[in-house]
Amino acid sequence: MKAHRAILIELPKDSCDVDHIKRLMALSNLAYRDYEVWMPDLLRTIQHQLYGFKNFMGSLVFGTEPKRWFAETWVPLKVLRIYSDGSMKGDRNAPVVLEFRSDVDFKSNVIRLRQVCKNEPRYVVELTMPKWVVERIKEGGDVKYAMIGLKNNEPYLALVAEREVVSYQPSGYILVIDINSWSHGIAWGLIRDGRIVSFKQEGLNPQRIVSLYNQAIKREKKLGALKKLGLGDETNVKSAKRMARRLRSRIYRLINEEAMFMAGKLVRKALRYKAMVVIDDVDWESLRDLLVRKYGKRVGKLLLSGLKRFVKSLVTQLEWYGAPYEFRRLYSRKCPRCEHELTQEEGRTMVCTNCGFKAPRDKVPIYWAIKVVHPGDRKSSIEQLTP
Ligand SMILES: [Zn+2]
Repeated sequence: MKAHRAILIELPKDSCDVDHIKRLMALSNLAYRDYEVWMPDLLRTIQHQLYGFKNFMGSLVFGTEPKRWFAETWVPLKVLRIYSDGSMKGDRNAPVVLEFRSDVDFKSNVIRLRQVCKNEPRYVVELTMPKWVVERIKEGGDVKYAMIGLKNNEPYLALVAEREVVSYQPSGYILVIDINSWSHGIAWGLIRDGRIVSFKQEGLNPQRIVSLYNQAIKREKKLGALKKLGLGDETNVKSAKRMARRLRSRIYRLINEEAMFMAGKLVRKALRYKAMVVIDDVDWESLRDLLVRKYGKRVGKLLLSGLKRFVKSLVTQLEWYGAPYEFRRLYSRKCPRCEHELTQEEGRTMVCTNCGFKAPRDKVPIYWAIKVVHPGDRKSSIEQLTP
């Protein structure tokens, strides 16, 4: 199986012509639909590269077909790799060049973008190569493709690493990941022989996000009032504006960082135990409703997108390292022994009035995993369910 991972690299704005990239994106959109439009004023090399690419579309991570006409489509680019011993891989005319100058000092490695950032012959933008590339290559990956495009009108380069992966044989451990609502974090349990070996809940504190968000709103309201008074240009108003903006981006960053951190941590855990990974197959619709009800529309949506990013990053990394995984619907209000509705008692304990099953609420999904992932010896593992 081929696995992919991608990284986004912000491009220096002053050395990129945003309109040029926009144009290339529009042409890529047409190329996806099998139209070849040769622009007389565009560099031939770039146009050849674009239309020569169609066959590779399927193999790109971001290479999903654009849904709408004129939707923003990232421009696929070939990559030439030049290694420190002088050997090369890839198309010599590729617009993206990864040059590995040293095996020890990764900071001397560079990325060169030829003619993509501006419609100018021999125009080159040079970037330092992120450590990410070196790490992926050490793991046996290769960066054959890249993409350029705009995100919020800012130019970015995406590098796509590819690796041939053989999944490992699970050792008997199962790592269960329950996505919850983030009100109590992400819950994970490690199971062996139908028993919970370890269990933990960790992750973001949504209350902190709510309070940061409220601070941002308060500031923005104040700013609005000052503007109405005609004080919008005062220096202290400007700095207050900056503060409000900084608060907002801090919220995004907090959620994003937490999602990435948790995904990385759980992937490492899976690899350490050679575990089979079971991920809660959440009903995103109802989870969104729940989060919006609990934290309000804006914060709820932010939390939801963080959770989606967590799952995406988790799956991408599990695939990259060949960890077997599956999605399963894991319940917290349904008895894992007899499927009767559970009743919640004090201290978040769930009780089954039908069969007597009893467990802390956040552990119920883990018991569900024990039940559904070992259908073969279901009876023996269910016997052990009563704590
Ligand atoms: Zn029951």
